[in-house]
Amino acid sequence: MIPGVRLILLGRQGAGKGTQCARLSRHYVVPHISTGDILRAAVAEGTDLGLKAKEIMDEGGLVPDDIMIGIVAERLQRPDASSRGHVLDGFPRTVPQAEALAEITLERPVEMVIDLEVPRELVLRRLAARRVCQDCGTNYTASGFEKSPWFCDVCGGDVVQRTDDTVEAINRRLDLYETQTKPLIDYYDRQGTLAVVDGVGTPDEVTTRLITVIETRRQVTTP
Ligand code: AMP
Repeated sequence: MIPGVRLILLGRQGAGKGTQCARLSRHYVVPHISTGDILRAAVAEGTDLGLKAKEIMDEGGLVPDDIMIGIVAERLQRPDASSRGHVLDGFPRTVPQAEALAEITLERPVEMVIDLEVPRELVLRRLAARRVCQDCGTNYTASGFEKSPWFCDVCGGDVVQRTDDTVEAINRRLDLYETQTKPLIDYYDRQGTLAVVDGVGTPDEVTTRLITVIETRRQVTTP
């Protein structure tokens, strides 16, 4: 049987977390749990959560911890995650979220936290060119030569720019990352679960690096 995994991927917006989490989720056959995707789905459906989250997201702010913790606690209880594990993308984003996650996962603790490291200048360039399928969330990079309208190769949905990928919102999110999310890297480093992986390179190169790090760590920690 393919072994599952219980993983968190950290990294600046635009570091390629979404793409790499989708790949790792296929490789280990575990759900890719992206809190950004969950919130965008709520916005698209116009639920109470979506109405609350939309304004915060468009400004590049953070949705309150208690709301996010509730969403993730519920999602991790579902059978796919409780039996095989998860690749968490976009959560935790603050130390209180990480502390709550440790409580939620007491019986099945997270095995490894990976910080996908890409410099700020490079993610700024990537985010300006980022496009996303409105329906399935597949990420694309615009070259400027795409047909308009642009349809997703995976599901045929509309490929658009995220409403929070404006220069102001991107800068705000990157600033928040430094103040709120960077402390998480120290938090997990102290716990001994952190690995830092270079996120610069082609998607295939980065996936190979990630899987190598996960497997190497497993060999070291498996008796
Ligand atoms: P992402 O797709 O991960 O970049 O998330 C998009 C937006 O959703 C973020 O800029 C936040 O406004 C919100 N969001 C996603 N995950 C979280 C989280 N764990 N805590 C607070 N806000 C979040």
